[in-house]
Amino acid sequence: GWKRHAVATSEGYYTLQTEDIGDVPVRLFLTPELLGAAEDTLYRQIVNATRFPGTRLVAITPDVHYGYGVPVGCVILTDRGEGAVAMGPVGFDIGCGMMSARSAVAAELATPDRKLAFNREVMKRVSMGAGGTSVRFGKMPEKDLVELVRGGAELYVDKFGAAIDRSRAERQRIPVDDAWDVPWGGKGKPERGLDQLGSLGGGNHFIELQRCDETGTLFVQVHTGSRGFGHGLATNYFELAREERPDLGADIDLGYFTPDSEHYRAYLNAVAAGGNFAIINRLIIFEQVAEAFRKVFREDLELVYEISHNLVQAEQHPEFGDVWVHRKGATRALPAQHPALKGTLFENEGHPVLVPGSNRDYSYILRPLPGAHKSGYSVNHGSGRRMSRGEAVRVLSQEKVNEQYRHAGILVNLDGEVPIDESSACYKSAEDVVTAVVDAGLARVEYRLWPLASLKG
Ligand code: 5GP
Ligand code: MN
Ligand code: MN
Repeated sequence: GWKRHAVATSEGYYTLQTEDIGDVPVRLFLTPELLGAAEDTLYRQIVNATRFPGTRLVAITPDVHYGYGVPVGCVILTDRGEGAVAMGPVGFDIGCGMMSARSAVAAELATPDRKLAFNREVMKRVSMGAGGTSVRFGKMPEKDLVELVRGGAELYVDKFGAAIDRSRAERQRIPVDDAWDVPWGGKGKPERGLDQLGSLGGGNHFIELQRCDETGTLFVQVHTGSRGFGHGLATNYFELAREERPDLGADIDLGYFTPDSEHYRAYLNAVAAGGNFAIINRLIIFEQVAEAFRKVFREDLELVYEISHNLVQAEQHPEFGDVWVHRKGATRALPAQHPALKGTLFENEGHPVLVPGSNRDYSYILRPLPGAHKSGYSVNHGSGRRMSRGEAVRVLSQEKVNEQYRHAGILVNLDGEVPIDESSACYKSAEDVVTAVVDAGLARVEYRLWPLASLKG
């Protein structure tokens, strides 16, 4: 198949050129092993990624796997003058992302009793699972939620006080136009989010207590997004894109808007509002996790960084100009002296990049290097799935998996019952994936984090 068209370059990536792709540069940031293991079905999705109007670059990150229309682990740059903004390349969980915090507590202090106590204290404060609702706020009136998703973390801190220092974050607020209204109702039902602020969600969303190899201290990592609110917004705009272009037919995942569409600005506003919801969600969960951590370990957590991996953002690129950068399961990676970091804490060293692995593998905190321009200033957002949920349930033994985790000293939830479709065998090796990024000169490894106690949504 398609892999014989992948040509290795001296820049640490493969280029892919075929008739289907035409002139759009496609860069695959994969090691030979990861390319060899890549699904055949990815090719169609990579081609899809090149077909949005005004596409200037498609970069594939090493955690790549099959997604909605385009791969998860995919970066698409479109021209900001005439190009599209696309929905599949942002995804349903608008603003989904990571936050990571550090402590000065020696990792040895996380005894089995304290791991259990930590998980229990977190679970008292944060509700888990797809149906989880807000412990702190209950159901919010529409107007209060609208105010928050417009004002972002900035407004949240004004209103409810700053229990934590949030200066180390990708952003405090994504601007939303006054003229845009939340499309309540409709097929997507974003109103599902009214009682979900500060809830983790299901699947692979997680809260994890970790040991940092470099510092020997405890870290905590959180993965969550915009819950039913972002999902509802995304669904509504997928539907509008389908109405606008019936020719897309069943391929609703390939929906997009060009600047002449009445929904173009509206969709960008929805991404901003969904992104703000996700940022506030991570902030609230962090406050609750920090409280649990203090109770068990008697010390504070300090934010390392907070960043999204499902967004479309306006950026400038030295090769491709003014672009919309869609990151679908990809993390922004701005190196030192990048103009967008001017005046921030990260101007001189680049911002941290948070890359989870699995709950029985390393997670990484990286620092972008100047070479990150090659991938549209982006790296992977995880290890990426290698086994479907269905296959995991069929081929893995629950008993054996539980035993592996017990043996490794990793407590999962309260009872050590590992969600099998989320176990480490379902994900690629974090080291393999990070090697591809390091070898391409996109980033360097700053911290390696090993899981001690894991809470899954
Ligand atoms: P996604 O955002 O695409 O849903 O997933 C992001 C990444 O999170 C996955 O590719 C996987 O590498 C990572 N991940 C999933 N579950 C866990 C977990 O329980 N712990 C850690 N550390 N990483 C996880
Ligand atoms: Mn998510
Ligand atoms: Mn995610």
